[in-house]
Amino acid sequence: MAFFDKLGDLAKNIGDKTTDAIETGKLNSKIGSETAAAAAQLQKVGEFYYAKFAAGEQVSPEALEFCQAAAAHYAAAEKAQAEIDRIRAENDAARAASSAVAAPPRSAAGPACTSCGAVNAPGTRFCGSCGAKLR
Ligand SMILES: [Zn+2]
Repeated sequence: MAFFDKLGDLAKNIGDKTTDAIETGKLNSKIGSETAAAAAQLQKVGEFYYAKFAAGEQVSPEALEFCQAAAAHYAAAEKAQAEIDRIRAENDAARAASSAVAAPPRSAAGPACTSCGAVNAPGTRFCGSCGAKLR
């Protein structure tokens, strides 16, 4: 009888462990979501003080230090964005300049092929490059 009692205890033990594992998993998940929610609230605290700082209001010396550091990071991000804008503008200008050079004035040349883009001699009926009929 003692043997079966032990078996029963063992089964109960395993069952308890499984229940514990499920419960622990749920609790770990709760810890994760509650910690994330707290972090989101703390971020709001930071944004609250930063808005005061940005508006020129007085903030405590401790908060001021963090706000100044954040402002320096925002400034660095803005500088990087300005650099991106400058590079894009340069590329756009270069592209516009090269396309202006590449396209010869139509009056001096013949018809441009609608199929391959080659410029043909005036009066040509078929593209000298790809053979397509010219309009
Ligand atoms: Zn062609």
